[in-house]
Amino acid sequence: MIDWKQLLDDLGVPCFTSGKNVAPGCINIKCPFCDDHSNHFGFNIEKGTTHCWRCPGGPAYKAVSLAAGIPVNTARDLIKKYTTSSVDGYAIRTNRLVAGGKEITLPGGPLQEVHRKYLEKRGFDPDELIFHHGITGTGFADRWQGIDFRYRIIIPIYDINGNLCTFQGRDYTGKQELRYKCCPVDKAIVHHKHLLYGAELARNRKRIVVVEGVFDQWRMGPGSVATFGTSLTREQVNLLLNWEEILFLFDPEPEAQARARSYATDLQACGRYVELCEADFGNDKNGNPIDPGDLTPDEARNVMLELGMCK
Ligand SMILES: [Zn+2]
Repeated sequence: MIDWKQLLDDLGVPCFTSGKNVAPGCINIKCPFCDDHSNHFGFNIEKGTTHCWRCPGGPAYKAVSLAAGIPVNTARDLIKKYTTSSVDGYAIRTNRLVAGGKEITLPGGPLQEVHRKYLEKRGFDPDELIFHHGITGTGFADRWQGIDFRYRIIIPIYDINGNLCTFQGRDYTGKQELRYKCCPVDKAIVHHKHLLYGAELARNRKRIVVVEGVFDQWRMGPGSVATFGTSLTREQVNLLLNWEEILFLFDPEPEAQARARSYATDLQACGRYVELCEADFGNDKNGNPIDPGDLTPDEARNVMLELGMCK
């Protein structure tokens, strides 16, 4: 059995466990082998096989390589690492993401007009994000240690003590294949799936709100932490034990809620108070579910107040 969801989440490839074109027991992505726009390419979780409903498709390692923009060999190694012999991959997960970097300098520089406009359009205050999170921006020429990080907002990721450990680059053009591009595992000091985004801003609190993504964290503000996807590593569950009261604010989709429930059980067993909340904020005008990150600052403030958090 292969944890495609986690692998694709970790690589920043948008993937779907339900919805249009997704067969039961499969994780689907936009097919990297044809001009697909609607998640026709499926990975079978149990068998490890792949298929595209539109074209002959190709092998899994090639699909991962193309979709994530990583070398074929790296894709092959990663798939092995995310393969488990049983349903409970917990023990194996622990050693999976070994970071190899020693020191990190971020790509990019001070935010330019184009970065500020992008953030403002999404309802964020660029100066606040610089102040709290130290974000930078890249332009048309930015390579980082030979890797293409052009046209991105660079999001540094810290550990709970505020040490810079790794980063992600968020595309601001809407045109790049990868929306989020991660610092490669061998160059990160700690892999981001071993960290909670925003932890360093919440460490003196008693109660935290757990959200999925960086934009959700930005919107909900200090006191929230993001897990980079609804699938948590053992390290992330352990990190959550730093707080006494833990509120999960995940998507209302059944799979996300089921995951939250299983982590809640673990955390409760360690004596923590846990609440599960469905982040059901309705749909936008295109019918897509609204994330915490899509709320207006006022709406987010109200949600945080309702959850017993003061900003
Ligand atoms: Zn295809």
